[in-house]
Amino acid sequence: MNIELLKKYQELDKNYSEFSEKVKNTEQYINYENSLKDFSKKQKEIQDTKEEIKRLCASLPECEEKKNTIQLSLDDIQSKVSQALTLDEVDNIYKKIKKIEDDIYDLMNYEKCLNKLILCEDKNKDNFNQLIFLNKECKSLRDEFGSIYNQSKDVFLKPIETEMKNLCSQLTKEEIATYESLKNSVEKYPYIVDYDGEFCGGCGEDISSEVTKFFTSKDVTCRCPRCQRLLYLK
Ligand SMILES: [Zn+2]
Repeated sequence: MNIELLKKYQELDKNYSEFSEKVKNTEQYINYENSLKDFSKKQKEIQDTKEEIKRLCASLPECEEKKNTIQLSLDDIQSKVSQALTLDEVDNIYKKIKKIEDDIYDLMNYEKCLNKLILCEDKNKDNFNQLIFLNKECKSLRDEFGSIYNQSKDVFLKPIETEMKNLCSQLTKEEIATYESLKNSVEKYPYIVDYDGEFCGGCGEDISSEVTKFFTSKDVTCRCPRCQRLLYLK
C-alpha cells in the first residue's frame, strides 16, 4: 500500500472539506441560510392560516342555519304568547325562550368566528406580501453567495481537485477503496496514522500488546483496535 500517497490524498481531502466548512461559515452563506429559513417559516405560517380559515369557514354555514331557526322560533312564540291560557302552555313557551337564548349565545360565537375569519384573511394577505419580499431577498442573497463561492472555488478548490485527480491516477482502485472505507469507519481525521511500536498515532492508546505481532515488516499496515485508523510503521 502506497502510504505516502494516501497520506497526501487524505491531507488534500481534508483541505477540500475544510473549504466547504469555511464556506458555510461565511457571512454571505449564513445570510442566505437564514433567509431560506425565514422563507420556510413564512410558508408554514401561510399554510397554518389557510387551515384556520378552512376550519372557520366550515363552521359558518351551521350558524347561518341557526339564525333562521331562531327567527322561526321567535315568530312561533309571538303567535303562541297571545293564545297561551294554561300553565303548561306558559311553561312550554318559557322552555322555547330558553332554547332561543342558547341559540343566540351560539350566534354570538358565530360573530366571533366571523371576526376571526376576517383577521385571518388580513393576516394571510400580509403574509403573502411578506413571502414575495422574502422570495426576492432569498434570490438576491443566493446570487450574492453564488458569485463569491464561484470565485473562491476557482482560487482554492480547483487546484486541490486537480491535485487529487492526479493522485488518484497514481493510486490503485483498492487503495482508493481502502481510503473511502476508512473515512466511513473512522470517527474523525486523520484516517491514516503512524505507529511507533507502542502508541496509536491517532487516538494515542497503547496498543502494543495487540498489534505489534502483526508488524513483521515496514510494508505491513493494520487497523487500530481502538479507533479503527490505519496504522503504518514510522
Ligand atoms: Zn487508535
